[in-house]
Amino acid sequence: MNMLESAQALIQRSAKHLGLKEAEIEAFISPVAEHDFEITVDDITHHAYRIQHNNKRGPFKGGIRFHPHVDKAEVRALATLMSIKGAAVNIPMGGGKGGVAFDPREFDDAHVEKVARAYVRALQEHIGPDKDVPAPDMNTDGAVIDWMVDEYEQLTGDTSKASFTGKSIAGGGSEGREEATGRGGVIALREYCKKHGLNTNGLKVAVQGVGNVGFYFAKIAETELGVSVVAAANSKVMKYNTEGLGFGDKVFSRHIMDELNGEIRPSNDIIQADVDVLVFAALGEVIDTENQAEIQADIVLELANGPVDDEALQQIEARNVRVIPDVIANAGGVIVSYLEWLQNREGEHWGEARVNAKLDEILTSAMSDAMKRAESDGVLLKEAAFVIALERLV
Ligand code: NAD
Repeated sequence: MNMLESAQALIQRSAKHLGLKEAEIEAFISPVAEHDFEITVDDITHHAYRIQHNNKRGPFKGGIRFHPHVDKAEVRALATLMSIKGAAVNIPMGGGKGGVAFDPREFDDAHVEKVARAYVRALQEHIGPDKDVPAPDMNTDGAVIDWMVDEYEQLTGDTSKASFTGKSIAGGGSEGREEATGRGGVIALREYCKKHGLNTNGLKVAVQGVGNVGFYFAKIAETELGVSVVAAANSKVMKYNTEGLGFGDKVFSRHIMDELNGEIRPSNDIIQADVDVLVFAALGEVIDTENQAEIQADIVLELANGPVDDEALQQIEARNVRVIPDVIANAGGVIVSYLEWLQNREGEHWGEARVNAKLDEILTSAMSDAMKRAESDGVLLKEAAFVIALERLV
């Protein structure tokens, strides 16, 4: 089952649980608008999309990815998931997603900048602080977004910078954004443990993926929850140390794996690590019905989008492995994006402590809502998150 099929299955199940009619489900699934266009730069044409899925609760919100595999079906599904995520954590933002089908690593910066600016020119009338607020995603970052904001300002005269989030700090971005998704994962785990009477101090944790999300999760979880991250993997190797890998005093770098002291094992062994909590922070579609039995952890934290497919989810939950779902666990990034948009609109720049406190408040309350709903309705935590989101959206 791929990520899109899993999301559709969850939407269908949650909608049935709520007693929604087929027509209501159809109406929810179909996007408000689909922009499908071409960008020609330096005589090269790239296909581009912006899917605006749902704006019932606020402006469309979602990233723009630059990747050769970008296609309309994928962007549409990701936009739908953004609507679910925003509603599951109760922020006043809708769902959208965009992309350009090209590999920016095959081009120089000048070409990438022209693509970014052309994307904004094509969509100018459809985006903006009250309409659609895009953000970075795969292969796009603060620098790309800063070009987009500049283009948008030149075209419209809007200088609020609230047209995009994920900007550089100098360009109007928010403190705390870089750590936000990892920090959100820590908050979700903390709240889960609190509710179930588990002491986080000394919990053994394994983390697949030590990029932006996995690294900050590991560092903050060690520092603030007292967990021991005993295993970590990137795409090449896994490092294992029963005494803990010591992320607490490390600084983020793309070479972080080389700095960790531990036994070297094959990357994929992370799935069967003998730990309390297994964190997926690398890719989607890692666990399916074929390999779910390898998981030994009691808790799975989904920080990537859709790392556990829907059939595997039901199987591991049936053997009492609890999954803290992506739509809440990895929403820290979109929540701080929302806070960035708020700051830009108010002409403010908050300190990191204020951003983190607000993120904590929003995620704590989202976890509480979902855990209560799972209990009262007898559904899985992931199903509860979808049920709550659909209820707020339909
Ligand atoms: P990243 O590119 O910074 O890091 C990805 C990490 O995963 C790297 O350490 C890489 O080596 C590792 N990896 C790749 N393939 C692997 C494999 N087969 N086995 C083990 N490790 C592997 O990406 P990121 O920003 O940290 O995002 C991680 C995931 O979280 C992505 O799926 C992303 O879509 C999702 N996500 C990110 C954010 C965000 O704010 N960055 C928000 C929500 C969801």
